[in-house]
Amino acid sequence: MNTKVHELLNQQINKEFFSAYLYLDFSNYFEDAGLDGFANWYKIQAQEERDHAMLFYQYLQNESQKVTLEAIAKPDKVFTCHMDVLKAGLEHERYVTALIHDIYAAAYEVRDFRTMQFLDWFVKEQGEEETNATDLITKMELFGTDPRGLYLLNQELAARVYTAPSLVI
Ligand code: MG
Repeated sequence: MNTKVHELLNQQINKEFFSAYLYLDFSNYFEDAGLDGFANWYKIQAQEERDHAMLFYQYLQNESQKVTLEAIAKPDKVFTCHMDVLKAGLEHERYVTALIHDIYAAAYEVRDFRTMQFLDWFVKEQGEEETNATDLITKMELFGTDPRGLYLLNQELAARVYTAPSLVI
């Protein structure tokens, strides 16, 4: 495997684990705020991010490439309102999309078609993640300012259940 592609794939393991850590921190914020549905939504999001990390880990192992695990950074965001958290989520997903696209571009440059095929699922997944984050902001803008609306939105988010990723490698 090309050195640059290998390096970026290995880094992505860490980025996905950081995403899990970040969303667990979001969940923690909402747990403290008494919004258990929002807390549930982000806790499941954190689970999905751990799955993503493991997919990159497994892909490198399948390709007989060395995996190097680095330290996971501390989530450092301080929030003053619920909406800040939701907006930080969208901003983070856009950042992750850019990372995935960078790996894809590196793989494309060296005609690493197998890595490109592996990344196809993540390209689609990032589109869904950005849509979910945007939808949540829209719902919060529409209903979140009214206590009854917030109560119902919290109930809706409480219903989210974990599903394993559709990508099997
Ligand atoms: Mg992810």
